[in-house]
Amino acid sequence: MYRSILVPIDISETDLTRHVVPQVQAHAKTAKVHFLAVIPTVPFYASLGLAYSTEFPDRSGLQAKASEKLEEIIKQFNIPAGRSQTHVVYGPPKDQILKLAEAVDAELIVIASHKPGFSTYLLGSTAAAVVRHAKCPVLVVR
Ligand code: ADP
Repeated sequence: MYRSILVPIDISETDLTRHVVPQVQAHAKTAKVHFLAVIPTVPFYASLGLAYSTEFPDRSGLQAKASEKLEEIIKQFNIPAGRSQTHVVYGPPKDQILKLAEAVDAELIVIASHKPGFSTYLLGSTAAAVVRHAKCPVLVVR
């Protein structure tokens, strides 16, 4: 029985989550489920000096919006409030997923293989990196 499960969610691709829901529900049982949305940093804008100026939404505003969206998305998982926790962080998604997996002692990571509509044997770059580097089992949902 898992005690801690990590479910990284790409909040820009809500359709991806649909496939993950039954898998998380099947494995969650009594586990604490950590949902993580990573806001990718934007080196291109940053290099132009735009990242934190008026042209770009400020960090805390963006984080609040992402948090709201994540909360909305995870409703469909129906995990009791006391057993679910949301995390929103900045950085490279794969690094942040692996980092949080260690921080919360995840015993399982449930991740979608790639965006829908791509060929079925494809493994997205985030999913591939997580599969390769995670120290716990990773369930790749197709
Ligand atoms: P693709 O390249 O087709 O988008 P990815 O490997 O990026 O495939 O995405 C597969 C899965 O990786 C997503 O369903 C999600 O679980 C996770 N993931 C990708 N990007 C993020 C992100 N920014 N925050 C949290 N999880 C993410």
